[in-house]
Amino acid sequence: AKMPRKFIVGGNWKCNGDRASIKALIQALNAGESTIGSGVDVVVAPPMLYGDYARGLLRSDFGVAFQNCWVGGNGAFTGEVSADMIKDAGFDWVILGHSERRSLPEIKETDETVATKTAYALEAGLKVMLCIGETLDARQSGKTDEVNARQLAAVAEKVSDWSNIVIAYEPAWAIGTGVVATPEQAQETHTQIRKWLAENISPQVAQQMRIMYGGSANAANADSLARQPDIDGFLVGGASLRPEFLRIVESWK
Ligand code: PGA
Repeated sequence: AKMPRKFIVGGNWKCNGDRASIKALIQALNAGESTIGSGVDVVVAPPMLYGDYARGLLRSDFGVAFQNCWVGGNGAFTGEVSADMIKDAGFDWVILGHSERRSLPEIKETDETVATKTAYALEAGLKVMLCIGETLDARQSGKTDEVNARQLAAVAEKVSDWSNIVIAYEPAWAIGTGVVATPEQAQETHTQIRKWLAENISPQVAQQMRIMYGGSANAANADSLARQPDIDGFLVGGASLRPEFLRIVESWK
């Protein structure tokens, strides 16, 4: 990678952990080398309830993200957390459109919902990690680029300023499966995403957009992926719950 784009690594802890395990994980992260901030942005996403707890324990050069937010502002929306609250509580980032939220039958977020959330979160002053990616079926039938384009187009209908968005390309077939995309597969798809941005948003947005790869990224495969010219970071699930995460962060070098 890849001037002028700054490498970025996210740790998506999903719905895992408790106070004790989160504290232990953060102690391991805090003990790591501090290249964070200068060469690489690092952002971890604890389960929402532990956001404040994690922020209080983490070294200040780590960013903290939430894993989701409501589609709009405060009000009569029982059980939801608004982007305004996340911002007000002192957090900068939110992950939106994660494939688990798009695909789990109990959630089933549509492209349009993800786009509405993205627009609102940006308006509330948050930075957005926008997750896109195809299912195994879509890849096998040659529809990868079409799916990514459709997911991005939904956002483009509601968002004009892309400067506070980073894209996480996460093929669903690679998430939590141990089947990582090859560096060639990921590079090829990232190139197509950048091309879509150039043609549909602007060449400048395409050039500046950080596109992270996610899906079974780990300490053993991060370096070869990070070497690809259009891979600007990682969104890490399973391996972000282990000190191995720090090794993935170092792949920016
Ligand atoms: P994984 O998850 O690294 O466990 O495959 C990635 C993600 O869901 O962001």
